[in-house]
Amino acid sequence: MVVGSGVAGVTTVLAVRHALPTARILLATKSVLDDGSTRWAQGGIAAALGPGDTPEQHLQDTLTAGAGICDERAVRALVTEGPGAVQRLIELGASFDREPSGPLSLTREGGHLRRRIAHAGGDATGAEISRALLAALAEAGQSAELEVIEHALAIDLLRTAEGRAAGLTLHVLGEGQRDGVGAVHARAVVLATGGFGQVYSATTNPPVSTGDGLALALQAGADATDLEFVQFHPTVLWLGPGSRGRQPLISEAVRGEGAVLIDAAGRRFMTGQHPLADLAPRDVVAKAIMRELLTSGTDHVYLDGRQLGAAEWARRFPTILASCRAHGIDPVTEPIPVVPAAHYVSGGIRTDLYGRTSVPGLYACGEVACTGVHGANRLASNSLLEGLVFAERIAVALGRGLPPAGEPAADTRPAGLLDPAVLGPLQQLMTTDAGVLRSGPGLARAAAGLAELGLQDCDKPDADAWQATNLHLIATALVGSALVREETRGSHWREDFAGTSDAWRGHLIVSAGDSGLASVFEPVLDASS
Ligand SMILES: Cc1cc2nc3c(=O)[nH]c(=O)nc-3n(C[C@H](O)[C@H](O)[C@H](O)COP(=O)(O)OP(=O)(O)OC[C@H]3O[C@@H](n4cnc5c(N)ncnc54)[C@H](O)[C@@H]3O)c2cc1C
Repeated sequence: MVVGSGVAGVTTVLAVRHALPTARILLATKSVLDDGSTRWAQGGIAAALGPGDTPEQHLQDTLTAGAGICDERAVRALVTEGPGAVQRLIELGASFDREPSGPLSLTREGGHLRRRIAHAGGDATGAEISRALLAALAEAGQSAELEVIEHALAIDLLRTAEGRAAGLTLHVLGEGQRDGVGAVHARAVVLATGGFGQVYSATTNPPVSTGDGLALALQAGADATDLEFVQFHPTVLWLGPGSRGRQPLISEAVRGEGAVLIDAAGRRFMTGQHPLADLAPRDVVAKAIMRELLTSGTDHVYLDGRQLGAAEWARRFPTILASCRAHGIDPVTEPIPVVPAAHYVSGGIRTDLYGRTSVPGLYACGEVACTGVHGANRLASNSLLEGLVFAERIAVALGRGLPPAGEPAADTRPAGLLDPAVLGPLQQLMTTDAGVLRSGPGLARAAAGLAELGLQDCDKPDADAWQATNLHLIATALVGSALVREETRGSHWREDFAGTSDAWRGHLIVSAGDSGLASVFEPVLDASS
């Protein structure tokens, strides 16, 4: 069975149907089919598709972004199989933007030395990919071989006495009588549940990104890795205190057109921080905003784009203008309240090159997985590609032989669930002490705060309690890894360890046991060693 209906989950279903036409597949997803990060992806999907570009160059750019800890074999699989995977997506019906003469219109993004980003509908790439995949799924139709269930929350993994995956428990989130919990037996379980942006108070991720698959896998004994590497976007629209959910991105291009960051008193605070001031790299801007918030004690700063004028706003940034106005802010006449926000999780459930986790029969794919392609920092537009390529690889592995059927002997539920009321304070402490800026004392404070929140049990096992419990486990694992890694690398920035250290060139592998979470450091071994 497959859990999650984003690019990773739906591609897995379609590819497994192709590899194993008579296998019975169940796709379960906790909301409606197109809810998830996939439909919000904007920039595009990276692949060496243009004239003069090669997988080797894409590999080099990916390794550079990953800051020394990518798994080169995984990156090689991504970049060599990527062009074919995008081509298959086009054959499936995805319509990418094209040049007037016919070839794909390819753009460049930060970190790519070539134009290799395919996009659709300008900045609506994820929506088009999701549409095409879900249309193909609908065309496959529901049958004895394929069943799709929406509003079904996967809560724990069933295992055989030998520890193999044997299925899942699903909590069907219906009204009244349709609400219920049931076990689904399966020979293979593929988790494609996306990221965990909701662990922070500001995120570009939708509300479904609560890291359920990662928490479930940890509870079931699977290894996770690289959890400390979370990418932040410097500016999203601040929606007010305690707001939960997806915060609209305010693209860097707005600053490119002359908008500047100011504090509540109207003072420009990027001047003097970097030679490029407001146009400094993403991490520099995100850090400067966070410092400003911490020193001033406020919860947002402002992006002043009034000088662009009404016509320029409407011409250049119609989507941003519309989403600001939908939230009662008019960027033409007033500065936009902004904060940095969690955007993408490079780490996740540790897998091999075929999506296999350390629990036999359990697979992971997409943002929930850590295949090793992103290392310490994802290269822009590599994540949709990772979902496509590694979904197809899981189908290859399953096509070679399904794991044996097994009788479930035990579930892998946490001992108790937390009160959903912990979520607000949890997100706030993660943002303040384990977000963009990290330091030993701040992370220790976050760990202590999380331990305290972990005492707030609840006895109503509803979806909110499951998600809060999952986010608490992930936050605890993330803070633990961030505290241990005493260096700055990729998207992990330690104020007290500003440099990158060779001693830390490796991965923190996290697992959950009877005595709680534990981590071990595994150095990267070069091919020559
Ligand atoms: C605003 C934004 C812009 C982005 N832009 C780009 C870009 O330009 N290029 C790029 O490559 N990447 C981009 N990304 C990242 C990319 O969109 C994601 O990494 C990718 O879509 C993840 O796909 P996925 O299938 O792994 O997860 P998702 O698309 O998030 O899907 C997860 C699925 O799992 C389901 N689910 C979760 N938990 C459970 C559970 N317990 N039980 C049942 N179902 C569950 C969800 O409902 C959902 O269907 C962007 C992300 C965001 C948020």
